[in-house]
Amino acid sequence: MGVPFVDLKAQHKSIQAEIDAAIRGVVEDNAFVLGPAVESFERDFADYLGVEEVVGVSNGTVALQLTLVALGIGLDHDVILPAHTFIATAEAVSHAGARPVFVDVRRDTGNLDASLLPKAITPQTRAIIPVHLYGQPADMEPILRFASERGLLVIEDACQAHGARYRGRRAGSFGRASCFSFYPGKNLGAFGEGGAVATNDHELATRLRRLRDHGQTERYHHAEIGYNARLEGIQGAVLGVKLKHLDGWNRARRAHAAVYLEDLARTGLTLPVEAESCESAYHLFVVRDGRRDELREHLSARGIQTGLHYPIPVHRQDAYAALGHREGDFPESEAWARECLSLPMFAELSFAQMDEVIQGVKSLRLNTVPQSNKR
Ligand SMILES: *Cc1c(COP(=O)(O)O)cnc(C)c1O
Repeated sequence: MGVPFVDLKAQHKSIQAEIDAAIRGVVEDNAFVLGPAVESFERDFADYLGVEEVVGVSNGTVALQLTLVALGIGLDHDVILPAHTFIATAEAVSHAGARPVFVDVRRDTGNLDASLLPKAITPQTRAIIPVHLYGQPADMEPILRFASERGLLVIEDACQAHGARYRGRRAGSFGRASCFSFYPGKNLGAFGEGGAVATNDHELATRLRRLRDHGQTERYHHAEIGYNARLEGIQGAVLGVKLKHLDGWNRARRAHAAVYLEDLARTGLTLPVEAESCESAYHLFVVRDGRRDELREHLSARGIQTGLHYPIPVHRQDAYAALGHREGDFPESEAWARECLSLPMFAELSFAQMDEVIQGVKSLRLNTVPQSNKR
């Protein structure tokens, strides 16, 4: 049978009529860039998150970059972020003109280790970007406390955490601003590229609206040098439809995670843990194993697709060689990179497909790991 890593077609089929009608509306209005569908999605997503404003932009990376620029963070400034993340978090800092300063992550969740923040701060530090990796909110309480004591801004990278909760509140409602990606494979995905910034700061939202549209205040009046970073009308329409289904899809993901957690408990794999006060959106279901590559090949031979998120920590990427980091600088991030394996996870995953994954793992592992070797 085989199991895909994600199945966007299955999701599309389940809502095809709604999506087709919404796209037709955009085409009939000729509202291809920004426009009513984007505005309506911005309002709905703000209500969903429990924030004042959402500004739709062209992707998640640009959401982060524009937020930094709009907050005055750039040249000669340092921005703290985890070493174990998708490279976009660091790229946004670099493109804003600032310097990324990495901190290591927690062994249990893979999220930024707040206890290491004092070591990372410099006189140039202006902001911290916690990443809600794999759909699980970072440990926001100590991060927010540290930031407020030191006068730093917190910008959430919520690109993997649409709908996740921390202490009952949505991820993306904690920092000065939070950034989302609507890349097709995310929990809330567009039909192409898309992103957004959420904030309670009206002044920041106004600046972001200007920056995303060439710095325009009114047509052909450019108050500052801006960007072309607008969200397309069709993406706004698709996202508006999908937002109504997000909670249901996330519930399905959480139910699938519960099945995996129970059925993989005695295989010797290190399974994801939900930290206290967190409700993960399970964007990814990431296990760890010392013989990750062997397991990956074994599953692949059975037609089961897996992913690596991420195989090289950002401080070890060639792109960031100039920062001069070495192997061993962020040992937990490096261990995640060596051992992580993402199993198939999407809302439409069937019991038969999950069983195939579970049997696939067990066919390698139950021969070699004694039943009692429970971690
Ligand atoms: C997807 C993602 C981004 C970037 O979003 P794009 O829309 O692809 O630009 C940033 N950070 C994290 C953690 C992501 O997963």
